[in-house]
Amino acid sequence: MHLARFPRIKLAHLPTPLEFLPRLTEHLRGPNIYVKRDDCTGLASGGNKTRKLEFLMAEAIEQGADTVITQGAVQSNHARQTAAAAAKLGMNCEILLENRISDPSDDYLNSGNVLLDRLYGANTTHFPGGTDMNAALDDLARELSQQGAKPYVIPGGGSNPTGALGYVNCALELLQQANDQQLTIDHLIHATGSAGTQAGLVTGLKATHSGIPVLGIGVNAAREPQEQKVYELALATAEFVGAAGCVAREDIIANCDYVGAGYGVPTESMIAAVKLLAQLEGLLFDPVYTGKGLAGMLDLIRKGEFKAGENIVFLHTGGSVGLFGYVGELGIERQGIEQ
Ligand SMILES: *Cc1c(COP(=O)(O)O)cnc(C)c1O
Repeated sequence: MHLARFPRIKLAHLPTPLEFLPRLTEHLRGPNIYVKRDDCTGLASGGNKTRKLEFLMAEAIEQGADTVITQGAVQSNHARQTAAAAAKLGMNCEILLENRISDPSDDYLNSGNVLLDRLYGANTTHFPGGTDMNAALDDLARELSQQGAKPYVIPGGGSNPTGALGYVNCALELLQQANDQQLTIDHLIHATGSAGTQAGLVTGLKATHSGIPVLGIGVNAAREPQEQKVYELALATAEFVGAAGCVAREDIIANCDYVGAGYGVPTESMIAAVKLLAQLEGLLFDPVYTGKGLAGMLDLIRKGEFKAGENIVFLHTGGSVGLFGYVGELGIERQGIEQ
């Protein structure tokens, strides 16, 4: 694998830090917990989509695009990072947002990620839940082309083999850091959604024969379809980077027991996990992805799935901007001014 062969634009602050979490580790009295800080990728306040966008935006420019279009849920972190990348590169940005929450609050519809999408100058269009968003993307691309624009379509979450290269690269970066720190990684855990992060990580970690298992904590689908989606993208990614055959079906593991009522719907365990990490480590996790991923990791540790002395790395994929779309759900006291 030689990633320099692929077009790439620098957007992220890399390498992101690999840090030990002493207070969380002591609190749990189990394995040693480390965090890989992909919430610190820099662009648009950070997150995992920026690594993918380094390859996707380079492809867009190579194809002569003047407009990028993408889709996501209303509080999409991917949309926010895409809007920022487009602004930085002087491209137009069209964002299609699917409302996947019933009874959304005004914060959900207009603050957090949505506020930043608009601040970065992207055009946002809201669609009802259940819309075929990929068809909507294609329709808009056709319409823009007819008007003389040159659109580049980025799939939801930036998850295709080009975007997944960002996480092949992250796997190599993490391995280098662990080797330099003399840290043996026993488990790598992260929140998995549109699959590009896990597909890229598994491809990179398998192609290098690292022996590091990856556990995705699902935030959306049931286990079987989630694993299948990651597997198919990992096969395509491995072939794309010239490492065909390195990924087997059993390398793809997703635990989807922590989704709760559905994508983006808060759970008690997510809220508890977000508060715990804020108050023990001063770290911000998010309501949709990393909070549920953490809730899963904490529960598995408390159930004894991981041994004391083992080293777990939790990949922090970002998303804290989404907290401001969920202000009412977090159970934080609000105060007014006393008259
Ligand atoms: C998109 C996202 C994920 C999931 O990554 P995928 O590549 O879509 O599986 C995890 N965490 C955050 C904060 C995200 O925005």
